[in-house]
Amino acid sequence: MTVSAAPQLDFSGSILNSVSNLDYLTKDHLREIQWKKFEIILRHACENSPWYREQMQQKKLTSADIKSFDDMHKLPCITKQVLRDTYPFGLFAVSKDKIIRMHASSGTTGKPIVVAHTREDLAVWTQSVVRALHAYGVGPGDILQNAYGYGLFTGGLGLHDGGQALGVTVVPISGGNTERQVMLMKDFGATVISCTPSYFLHIIEKAKEMGVDLRELPVRVGAFGAEPWSDEMRQRIESEAGIKAYDIYGLTEICGPGVGAECVNQNGTHILEDHFYPEIINPDTLEPLPDGQEGELVFTTLDRFAMPMIRYRTRDLTCLMTEKCPCGRTIRRMKRIKARSDDMIIIRGVNIFPGQIEAALLSVEGTAPHYQIILTREFGGLDKLEIKLEVKPDDFSDIIREIETFQSKIRHEISRITGIHAKVTLVQPGTIPRSEGKAKRVIDNRVI
Ligand code: ADP
Ligand code: ZN
Repeated sequence: MTVSAAPQLDFSGSILNSVSNLDYLTKDHLREIQWKKFEIILRHACENSPWYREQMQQKKLTSADIKSFDDMHKLPCITKQVLRDTYPFGLFAVSKDKIIRMHASSGTTGKPIVVAHTREDLAVWTQSVVRALHAYGVGPGDILQNAYGYGLFTGGLGLHDGGQALGVTVVPISGGNTERQVMLMKDFGATVISCTPSYFLHIIEKAKEMGVDLRELPVRVGAFGAEPWSDEMRQRIESEAGIKAYDIYGLTEICGPGVGAECVNQNGTHILEDHFYPEIINPDTLEPLPDGQEGELVFTTLDRFAMPMIRYRTRDLTCLMTEKCPCGRTIRRMKRIKARSDDMIIIRGVNIFPGQIEAALLSVEGTAPHYQIILTREFGGLDKLEIKLEVKPDDFSDIIREIETFQSKIRHEISRITGIHAKVTLVQPGTIPRSEGKAKRVIDNRVI
């Protein structure tokens, strides 16, 4: 008996070569791929998921009635509530032995929802993160300190799998233990950091306390997402840490981080359209909106089988951009998500988003990016908005001397951007709770 030769081991370590061209397809070719995938996934959902079958029956539709993407609006949308109602396994469309991983949303807005992945589903997700990191100019030789939380939250494992598949060195540090984050960033020479933007602020602050200047370390790229962050926040992060801060977008229901990512132009988030078909709808009427118009982002997962999402309403507000990106990618961009519809604060009849307040605060010199928005209701029923805000420790004593002028500058900015008069309270540096994941910035004490 002859012993067969050991199989050739492939140490190239990266799947990039086979996937990066997907970012540059012609519009027609992309459409063709999307449509082929969509036909399969719609049929799969209707045949294997009782929920989809019932919805189609109620609308008297069959998959054959959807002849092109122009017919998408005929299909029902799926909401987070449906995921809650079918908790935990009601939307699975494959047998349980095909499922190799489950995640759950972090439950920012209520009970968690469960999302399942087949091996192929995970491959789609991993490939998306590979393309995201590649878009930032990251590749083999880079060291990725992955400070997104590991666990049911998709951030940690999403970046982990994608980083490894791309061939970068992943340091799976997870969130928290900020002093150790700074120490390892320095000692391992991380070139890329991934975490929520609010957690990175905490890392910046801790580094300062420890006498470490991040600008002098090799770290050059940040992959920041999982929560809205303003352009003003980006500027602060970039100048204080000496890195390029890029957006990574995603949500558990669609897979996790990597549904979209910025390229080096930092002007809009490219959507991986060959996997995730985007639509923008009017959240009130559900009517489709044209490119360029802001509305609610809706996704259809084109090649995820364990739990296909057909027309999932993200509640994230944005618009699709039409102009070509100078990077040459043909996959479309959306404006960076600044708000989700359920974060909207209605105060004295005016709708505002926390991101608007963040932009106002950070446009004033001397403010620190640590704040809380506190809502209260007076006895007579009048809503009050208070902003608790830290100032930069270095500027603290100067600002305290001219506190009135400083506060009125901030009040003016808030009122200019939101139309609302707010009370501004300055607090001692370090007193607003720091976040290790998604920041909780709004405290609503109104008894409704
Ligand atoms: P949860 O809905 O419980 O927060 P997820 O962890 O799945 O669960 O979070 C997904 C949501 O996080 C998105 O729908 C979006 O609102 C927000 N998000 C994710 N990435 C970004 C980003 N880059 N910019 C703004 N918001 C983001
Ligand atoms: Zn681009």
